Amino acid sequence: IWHACLEIIRDNVNRQSFKTWFEPIKPVSLTEEDDQIKLTVELPSRFYYEWLEEHYYSLLRKTITKVLGPKGRLFYKIVIEKEDPQSGFEGISVNMPAHPPETTPPPPPPRTRPVSPTAPPITPESPVEVAEQEPPVPTNPFAIPGIIRKIQVDSQLDPKYTFERFIEGDCNRLARSAALAIAQQPGATSFNPFLVYGGVGLGKTHLIQAIGNYARQHHTAETIRYVSSEQFTNEFVQAIQHNRINEFSLFYRHIDLLIVDDIQFFGGKEKTQEEFFHIFNALHQTGKQIVLSADRPPKDIPGIEERLLSRFQWGLMADVQPPDLETRIAILRRKAEDEGIELGDDVIEFIAHHVKSNFRELEGALLRLVAHAAYQRRDIDLALAREALRDLIKESRVTLTIDQIQQLVCEYFDIEPDLIRSKTRKREIVQARQVAMYFCKQFTQHSLKSIGLHFGGRDHSTVIHACQSVENLMETDPKFREIIEELRHKISLYSR
Ligand code: ADP
Ligand code: MG
Repeated sequence: IWHACLEIIRDNVNRQSFKTWFEPIKPVSLTEEDDQIKLTVELPSRFYYEWLEEHYYSLLRKTITKVLGPKGRLFYKIVIEKEDPQSGFEGISVNMPAHPPETTPPPPPPRTRPVSPTAPPITPESPVEVAEQEPPVPTNPFAIPGIIRKIQVDSQLDPKYTFERFIEGDCNRLARSAALAIAQQPGATSFNPFLVYGGVGLGKTHLIQAIGNYARQHHTAETIRYVSSEQFTNEFVQAIQHNRINEFSLFYRHIDLLIVDDIQFFGGKEKTQEEFFHIFNALHQTGKQIVLSADRPPKDIPGIEERLLSRFQWGLMADVQPPDLETRIAILRRKAEDEGIELGDDVIEFIAHHVKSNFRELEGALLRLVAHAAYQRRDIDLALAREALRDLIKESRVTLTIDQIQQLVCEYFDIEPDLIRSKTRKREIVQARQVAMYFCKQFTQHSLKSIGLHFGGRDHSTVIHACQSVENLMETDPKFREIIEELRHKISLYSR
């Protein structure tokens, strides 16, 4: 029966492919069960399985239907010679797909991980809808095959990482526009390889996955693969252990758009780097796109080979920086909008002022706020934000400088900051100066003397006098008191 299938397949693929992908397949059994005619074949490895699923799914389906009729089903069994207790390998010694084999392949696995129960056999009635069911994302595609169909190669892409959701700012403009150009024409720009580097939470993964998602959506690349360098390393190590190096490198060489995240983990791994180097060259030579990320400039990664470093120079390296205030505000607005959360400008500014390090923390802060609001059944306002983010803010506690306070006070009263430090005795300036001194005393650790010095070299008794005047006036003049409270509120947004 299998030979009959092979005849049909032979007519439909080129000789080389037939030799490579179909000749090694061995028929195992043919059984009739319930309403099905099950043809089981044995594949030499998971690579075969993935490849067949990826490239020959419909051919196989048609062939099986032709030979076995509409009840025909094709089952796979994958051989492994060696048990690897460390890896997820044991899972695949069960028949592909979910159905256990009649004959357990030797050696019987000590434990079997249930291969995805959603993976049906190739059947004429169950065409591609399997592709729509999101399988659990395998951490290692070689460890859990069988649950994967069309999406196999790029299944690791998170669809939420798109260009549309990527906020542009001075901090990431170059990286973003290069990424977009690449996504539109993978392999055809001079940005090959493209390497994004920068600290944690600055959007590297988001950006390089956006390239993959874009290319998939707009069909600018056919086979797309996103892996972390750790995952690549693990796969490579497993391939060595199981004598599958050829397949491993074949697998990677047919990719049109290869995205490797966090290549700093390649540091010191010589063998992996060597393999990657060869794959890199093969892809580059054939005009395939390579996209990489690292947490620092590659030359600063310890243990990266010279020749790889020099390859990186061929393309473009772009950094991503911590977001500036405008970008932080923009991102909070956007995320709030996306999540359908109503946030006042004061709350947004409050978060943006306090959470500065990276995008991930901004998101974290927002989530926390939402959780607090839900939990306490309160609306989100500044008070809630303060409460919810108290410890976050303590960590990133910013002490205001005297300059900043002067700046804020002057802004509020709409006067030139220079004037507040000058000798001017104009009434409104004097008052602003006193108010600024008062807040410097409250919000900084500076001594009276030091505060005085920052105000055009006045002495400490002037500062004492200023504080007293402000307090007195607050007692007697409710309007003034209001002003002070408002200012205090503004200033406290920046500190605590
Ligand atoms: P990295 O890989 O550099 O550590 P990520 O890409 O994982 O950072 O980003 C962390 C989080 O911040 C993700 O949820 C990501 O969507 C978000 N993020 C980062 N940069 C941006 C940006 N420019 N616009 C929108 N979201 C961003
Ligand atoms: Mg990342």
